[in-house]
Amino acid sequence: MQMKNITRSRHLFAEACRLLPGGVNSPVRAFQAVGGDPLFIAGGQGSKIFDVDGNEYIDYVGSWGPLILGHAHPEIVDALRQVLEKGTSYGAPTEREVELAFLIVEALPSMEMVRLVNSGTEATMSAVRLARAFTGRKKIVKFAGCYHGHADGFLVQAGSGALTMGVPSSPGVPEEIGGLTIVLPYNDGEAVERAFEDQGEEIAAVIVEPVAGNMGVVPPAPGFLQKLRELTAKAGSLLIFDEVITGFRLSYGGAQEYYGITPDLTCLGKIIGGGLPVGAYGGRKEIMELVAPAGPVYQAGTLSGNPLAVQAGITTLRYLRSHKESIYPELTKKAEILQDGLLKAAEDAGLRLQVNRAGSLLSLFFTEFPVTDLETAGRADQGLFKGFFGLMLQEGIYLPPSQFESLFLSVAHTDDDLKRTIDAARLSFKKLG
Ligand code: PLP
Repeated sequence: MQMKNITRSRHLFAEACRLLPGGVNSPVRAFQAVGGDPLFIAGGQGSKIFDVDGNEYIDYVGSWGPLILGHAHPEIVDALRQVLEKGTSYGAPTEREVELAFLIVEALPSMEMVRLVNSGTEATMSAVRLARAFTGRKKIVKFAGCYHGHADGFLVQAGSGALTMGVPSSPGVPEEIGGLTIVLPYNDGEAVERAFEDQGEEIAAVIVEPVAGNMGVVPPAPGFLQKLRELTAKAGSLLIFDEVITGFRLSYGGAQEYYGITPDLTCLGKIIGGGLPVGAYGGRKEIMELVAPAGPVYQAGTLSGNPLAVQAGITTLRYLRSHKESIYPELTKKAEILQDGLLKAAEDAGLRLQVNRAGSLLSLFFTEFPVTDLETAGRADQGLFKGFFGLMLQEGIYLPPSQFESLFLSVAHTDDDLKRTIDAARLSFKKLG
């Protein structure tokens, strides 16, 4: 097999390593978990990305989830061009912010009010502050392997890059802050029950990814989310759904619509910014009215609700809303085709593989055992994943460069993309088997 020429990417990475810690601005991009030099991307179109050496790849990262419509969707590009000509930011209210808020609140009825921020991290961090203020309590429950951004209290047995780098809890997080986070195994309702028996009166909130996407994809066990709802309601704690990945992805109304559970607060990001930096948090009016300036809980942002990001979000949500009857079943169908094709190809090669999937999110785990939490995810063969990633890249398939991330499908992925991906996987599995 002819190896791809990535000379310019290599050159840029060497230069980047001199200037940026690890050569990147977010850890997983450095390819540490899979080895080799990261690709520097020059552009994207639909389901494809192009590196600076002119190689083309079918992209399953999709900027880590926002690009549900694919790269450079013409409606988003046009809308952004129009906004751009009127200036990039005013630091004053705009009509667009009201429209994006309306679209969000309409889609997720549990969010009676919403505050726009600039990232998922800001959303989760602010939601926890609000939950603490509302309940007058300090502790939060999170689940091992879930990632809620990089605010201090969340970097305790976190998923995503922290997990990929093997950083169980980040240096720099004071024990006093980490100590307010109770970490429990995902999908273990009994552990949550015990925590509430012991410390229920101190727990301000349970924060959860309703489908875990940052230890690889791990769907909730039947009854798990319901149990969280019941226990938090009984104890007077808040239930926070971190729907930064699942919002507008699992269904138009997110995981809360998909699983029929109503959280007290919801965090959003990714898709609601259409590929530009946005986050949001929201929930019942009585809670949200504590946020400044309506109430005393402080939270602000120079670029919050900036016109470009908000317009990209509005255009994406409007598109999804008007096509939702077809888009979500089609995305799921594509993910099923991929899941079935990968499983069959692995079986034919004699490899033991689990493909976890929820809607259009999926992950491969090289293990014969079901993956239901961080512990079982950690038992999958990462060496095989690394080999698979490298072989697929040579075949022109760009997968997330870590075992502990999701593949993201978009409306732009074609049947031909899926077929080429499964064919490439078949070849790669044979070499690994
Ligand atoms: N919550 C979840 C579930 C995420 O997957 C992420 C990022 O991947 C975040 C929060 C943090 O979002 P951001 O990277 O925009 O700060």
